[in-house]
Amino acid sequence: MNGTLTDKINSRRTFAIISHPDAGKTTLTEKLLLFGGAIREAGTVKGRKNAKHATSDWMEIEKQRGISVTSSVLEFLYNGYHVNILDTPGHEDFSEDTYRTLTAADSATMLIDAAKGVEAQTKKLFKVCKLRGIPIFTFINKLDRQGRDPFELMEELENLLGIRSFPMGWPIGMGQSFKAVYDRVNKRLELYNPNNPKDIDIISVTGPDDPKIDEVVKDEGLVQQFREELELLDVAGDEYDLERINNGELTPIFFGSAISSFGVQTFLEHFLSLSPAPSPRDSSIGTIDPMEREQFSGFIFKVQANMNAKHRDRVAFLRITSGTFKRGMSVKHVRTNKPLKLAQPTQFLAQSRSIVDEAYAGDIIGLFDPGHFRIGDTLVEGDSFEFSEMPHFSPEHFSAITVKEALKHKSYEKGLQQLTEEGAIQLFRTYNKYVEQQIVGVVGVLQFEVLEHRLKSEYHVDIQMSRQPFSFARWIDGDEKELSVFKEKQRNLVTDREDRIVALFENEFQMRTAQEKYPNLQFYENSFYK
Ligand code: GDP
Repeated sequence: MNGTLTDKINSRRTFAIISHPDAGKTTLTEKLLLFGGAIREAGTVKGRKNAKHATSDWMEIEKQRGISVTSSVLEFLYNGYHVNILDTPGHEDFSEDTYRTLTAADSATMLIDAAKGVEAQTKKLFKVCKLRGIPIFTFINKLDRQGRDPFELMEELENLLGIRSFPMGWPIGMGQSFKAVYDRVNKRLELYNPNNPKDIDIISVTGPDDPKIDEVVKDEGLVQQFREELELLDVAGDEYDLERINNGELTPIFFGSAISSFGVQTFLEHFLSLSPAPSPRDSSIGTIDPMEREQFSGFIFKVQANMNAKHRDRVAFLRITSGTFKRGMSVKHVRTNKPLKLAQPTQFLAQSRSIVDEAYAGDIIGLFDPGHFRIGDTLVEGDSFEFSEMPHFSPEHFSAITVKEALKHKSYEKGLQQLTEEGAIQLFRTYNKYVEQQIVGVVGVLQFEVLEHRLKSEYHVDIQMSRQPFSFARWIDGDEKELSVFKEKQRNLVTDREDRIVALFENEFQMRTAQEKYPNLQFYENSFYK
């Protein structure tokens, strides 16, 4: 394998930040980009509170609501690393795209508000990362405000997420009395200066007992508490174990205050040295290892419509899994078995899109898409193979859907098919009903609006939706006999596009009852049956 290519791939870090809205993801992303020199001032990263947003040319709904419907990719360079951050949409715009974006990441950073701990959305995103077994790094944010006890937060990670942690740093004080973070690995103290938070002093020490700590922190009680806590960590905490970190079993924890840039650089440097370079992926011919396969390959993990309302174009996001991408290259689109010239790819640097000439395994590129691509499509150079199917995740909102004018049925079906292929919605059909009905499932309610809007604007179709009281979808598999009884007796069954049996439930109680009744069936939260 060509050494330059190996170096290029090894220098790449592609990760996503997972968090609950308001934990500080926009702020942290911005600070990371500032360190990387990708932006010059704060306030440039697209956020829903950003006035600049109104001038962007994203979807109509996005403009009306001032939020981002789809996630984007940001890249920057730092210390010889080429970093790609996959941005995951938050608020009401939370959708299956958010989950799917995680399939393109090699690791994740879980951002937690120190006062709030693990919140609902973080939990959902964490589960998807866990499913893939990728390493997860934790940044506990907003230490400049009074938050919860760090031990309590570690316990919460274990109890709610089932992951053990290893604090890479440890705070001295918090909120009003926030003094510093001690870096356990580099044995140094990062001092917080509330009057000028950007002015960060870093002092090397011999360890937690170094008297220098007393001198600079100047608070006997806090230093004593810090020493006791560190001792407790050393005795009762998990050991630092890179293998467990790599398997996603142990999360390194960092403490900081994104808004003051405090702890961000330390986090970034540790993260870059610990996080994995582009990792191998499963495929129909076995594992595709970017360190072994020189030829280009990649998969589409997201299709985004109307990034530019004027041109009505779609952009398909491709994660390069091996080799080098060159502008204008010909590849094979495996699903259709057709050659395809990749002529107009774009890369995403902060807010502006630019044309990319070359990219490497680990990178994400946006491909202009006149309708070729579906989620999960594989593009290859040379021998043909396909990457494993992209899983579907349980929607949380459901509507029965019909077209208002029967004459427009054809356009309606076409539109639905397109939107399903893009992954904006999941389409189910009722099973065992006299009159078959179509049920649309979405992860975030905003997708219903997106669906209605796009069918109207792109297919000139008006639809009628009637909300269904379900909150969970479970893919069902297991003992054949029991499955046939289940199919006959269970209410609210639907099939997905691949004709797999899916049961819909209104609440957890209903779901548990069914599970108890059919002990030999498995109820999977995703179509991967994992
Ligand atoms: P997002 O929704 O996760 O993208 O969160 P934002 O980055 O928009 O931050 C949400 C709010 O928290 C904003 O008002 C930020 O100014 C604030 N914030 C972010 N980081 C910090 C921090 O380190 N300390 C404090 N006190 N506030 C922060």
